[in-house]
Amino acid sequence: MDRLPIFLKLTDKPCLVVGGGSVAERKVRLLQRTDASITVIAPSVTESLQAQINQGLIAHLPEQYSDGAVAGYWLIIAATDDELLNHRIAADADAAGRFCNVVDDNAASSFILPAIVDRSPVVIAIGTEGNAPVLAQQLKSRIEAWIPARIGELAEQAGRWRQLVKKRFTSVRDRRRFWQRFFSGPIAEHLLAGRQSAAEKAMRAELVGKIETDKKLRGEAWIVGAGPGDPGLVTLRGQQLISRADVVLYDRLVSKPVLDFARKEAELIPVGKRAGSQEMSQAEINELLVKLVREGNRVCRLKGGDPFVFGRGGEEALSLAKAGLPFQIVPGISAALGCAAYAGIPLTLRGVSGSVTLATAKLANDLGPNWPHLLQSGHTLALYMGVASIADIKKQLLEGGVSPDLPVAIVENGTTSRQRTIISSAAAVEDDAKKANIVSPAMIFIGESIRAAKKLQWFDGQSLNSDVVLDDLHTSHIDYLRLIETG
Ligand code: SAH
Repeated sequence: MDRLPIFLKLTDKPCLVVGGGSVAERKVRLLQRTDASITVIAPSVTESLQAQINQGLIAHLPEQYSDGAVAGYWLIIAATDDELLNHRIAADADAAGRFCNVVDDNAASSFILPAIVDRSPVVIAIGTEGNAPVLAQQLKSRIEAWIPARIGELAEQAGRWRQLVKKRFTSVRDRRRFWQRFFSGPIAEHLLAGRQSAAEKAMRAELVGKIETDKKLRGEAWIVGAGPGDPGLVTLRGQQLISRADVVLYDRLVSKPVLDFARKEAELIPVGKRAGSQEMSQAEINELLVKLVREGNRVCRLKGGDPFVFGRGGEEALSLAKAGLPFQIVPGISAALGCAAYAGIPLTLRGVSGSVTLATAKLANDLGPNWPHLLQSGHTLALYMGVASIADIKKQLLEGGVSPDLPVAIVENGTTSRQRTIISSAAAVEDDAKKANIVSPAMIFIGESIRAAKKLQWFDGQSLNSDVVLDDLHTSHIDYLRLIETG
């Protein structure tokens, strides 16, 4: 290690920035995250620096840097565009025994500024000793994504409770054990989920000694939407919870890369249902979930897409609520949204489709027998679980009086590398689906906005016969295409 990372307390400490351009301005802004007392030396400064000077937020010496001007400052940042001058400032600082950073000049700097993840009071500094600042930035983004958003609040609250904990646990070893339990247990979980009063209640119980067994306190269920397949579509919160769980109960539709977010030690239990043969009934899943949480496990219930969109997440949450067990629900990208985006099908499109319905394919039951009329007023339908009913859908559409060339799209295995998309029409969809041997899971979309998909193909899945069919449609729907083209 060539450079030692330290956290400097700069409150009211005199710091000097030499230079008044945009680079200097950025450094001033960085120093201003602390309560340093900042002086800028520069004959002229940017507008924004000038505004701060006028408000008295920083001091300004409107002159060229003169030798020895570093005296009395704790930190110096040389941010002029004159390399020789910057080096002179660094040499001055060295001679005076002060730390100096020369912007963009690792060798001349006695300290350098790391990339920072700032969830104060939790601050993570990342440095590459000047070798690869862009790598540091990329690492920073990953860490930002990985650490929970409320980590700062968690640390702050721990700080507020430090004295109480010191009184309650007199030995260093007990205190350390307490804090270990605290940060990986339910109190931290409450705080990270924003449940302040539950955290306070649990903390009070700990402090008066009514400590329930460790396991009992820990049990909680997280009902998490895993998205439609692409692991990049899992939310940050979802990913964090998957990676903290003791047990993961997952559906058949959850993809392998998403399961890879789980800890190596976590127990993975498939509870998926295959179309037709039920592997585990919903009641059995509910029971298992309640049992595992009661036993003190942190259980991640991973569901394809979104748990509350045809995911039966509501029923599972109700069983937990009935048993008085804590749970959290994390939304996911539902298959309709994922497949539409990855197939280039805008669910709404100005002037073409002004509303969208998510439904199962049991349409006549769900939407009433006249459901095809919905489509005549610029509406998009997104149908789940519909592959087996494609013949019925076609029949009801045509009998319902929609135009035979109303666009119908099918997206199979959406958002994965196996995605296949058919763009067809009300009259042809049954044949096209059979020809392509479309299987579950697939989404069916119906509506005029599907025409835009021809221009919006961006994802590298396979497109089946879409060109042919869309070109056919093109001639009879010039108006829509024009609308789409001119926005
Ligand atoms: N809760 C899930 C839906 C579960 S119902 C969600 O919000 O997405 C199961 C149906 O979802 C499947 O029959 C299929 O219609 C659809 N589905 C799920 N994943 C899919 C995918 N990757 N591609 C296409 N359809 C998918």
